[in-house]
Amino acid sequence: MKVVIVDDFETNALIVKAYMQELTSVEPLVFTESRKALEFCLTSEPDMVLVDYVMPEIDGLEFIRQMRARPDLDEVPIVMITAFDRREVLLQALDLGANDFLGKPLDELELKARTRNMLKLRARSVALADANRALHKLATTDVLTDLMNRRSFMERANAEVARARRYRKPLSVLLIDADHFKRINDTYGHSGGDAVLRELANHARHIVREMDFAGRLGGEEFAICLPETPLDGAMIVAERLRERVATMPVAFDGQDIRVTISTGVADIAGGDGEVAPLLQRADVALYEAKNGGRNRVIAARQEG
Ligand code: GH3
Ligand code: MG
Ligand code: MG
Repeated sequence: MKVVIVDDFETNALIVKAYMQELTSVEPLVFTESRKALEFCLTSEPDMVLVDYVMPEIDGLEFIRQMRARPDLDEVPIVMITAFDRREVLLQALDLGANDFLGKPLDELELKARTRNMLKLRARSVALADANRALHKLATTDVLTDLMNRRSFMERANAEVARARRYRKPLSVLLIDADHFKRINDTYGHSGGDAVLRELANHARHIVREMDFAGRLGGEEFAICLPETPLDGAMIVAERLRERVATMPVAFDGQDIRVTISTGVADIAGGDGEVAPLLQRADVALYEAKNGGRNRVIAARQEG
């Protein structure tokens, strides 16, 4: 774990470094210029900081203040090193968000013991953050296709629709449904069907721009949100996707699975504050596409 040691007096810093090197899995990084130390800490999150109080330019307190101004570095333990008789400095440091302090002259055993404790806490908070990230991904991602799941798609699309309405920008959605998907499952089995769904997701990812996003709404139904895109632009995207899917069979188990999609396209209309009404209009268009023979794109009728 990376432990940053900040002390303008190099001899002190090197003594601390030598102690740190005796701890397992600690990589000490010494800085004698607090500005450089801060720069490093703000750009490459360390696992712990040992900072001296009295330093030119940026002193220990200012160092702590600037680190704690960054919410994403909240969990990095900071230990302040200062003379024992500077009680008011110590209290200020704790107020600013220091996690612990050490008095000068440094006691080797105390320094090591406190460092071990801090790093244990740090390891736990890193593990917790990883677990939270994994949980968040599970809750927002469709496991089969790695696209957004329905809830997460709706949430983000709602935010985009609200934004488009506020800034009077265009926005369109594509509602996509695989044609005769039951037959695919019947012919190639469920895992064949799953392979097709994964490939459809890949095609969707492939055709969209950076600002667009796709989700699997359920079963063999997908949606793509195209911010800043009017209906005619969305029709072009939808047609490109339709053609791509229709001309690129999915390789599965030594076979080529042919699949087509039908798509309904709708854009934002005057009163839309959420994505649901757009999806409803797209759904009506999708139904027309199915009735019209599938493997086609239909635009939703503009509201009169
Ligand atoms: P249409 O052209 O009218 O859309 O016909 P369809 O057969 O695609 O439509 P329908 O909605 O009747 O059938 C969808 C099928 O998709 C039924 C269901 O078994 C299958 N399905 C839903 N989710 C999954 C999945 O995660 N994996 C696989 N392999 N199949 C799925
Ligand atoms: Mg279908
Ligand atoms: Mg369906």
